[in-house]
Amino acid sequence: MKCHHCNKEMKYARGLKFNDYTLDGWRCFCGEIYFNPEQVQRVLLLNKLKKEVLRAKLGRNRSNLILRLPKDVEAALSLQEGEEVVLKVDKDRLEVIPA
Ligand SMILES: [Zn+2]
Repeated sequence: MKCHHCNKEMKYARGLKFNDYTLDGWRCFCGEIYFNPEQVQRVLLLNKLKKEVLRAKLGRNRSNLILRLPKDVEAALSLQEGEEVVLKVDKDRLEVIPA
């Protein structure tokens, strides 16, 4: 990848600071930085979700209740079908933590 600022070849780098996150991207020695666009999308989505009150519907499959997560949550946390999550119950609260 070429730098748009000085037109030199940029180096791929890890651990670049973006908001409160560390992302991969390309760094030029002139100081220009391009972040990995997929990772930036995910951080922007996480920041958006942080400010929202999310609602999800409970469904039922035979005797089990099923928690249906919004698409944005799936994308922001990179959740996969069949993946295990950890559930924490505290009084009347339920926390779902990707394992
Ligand atoms: Zn440059």
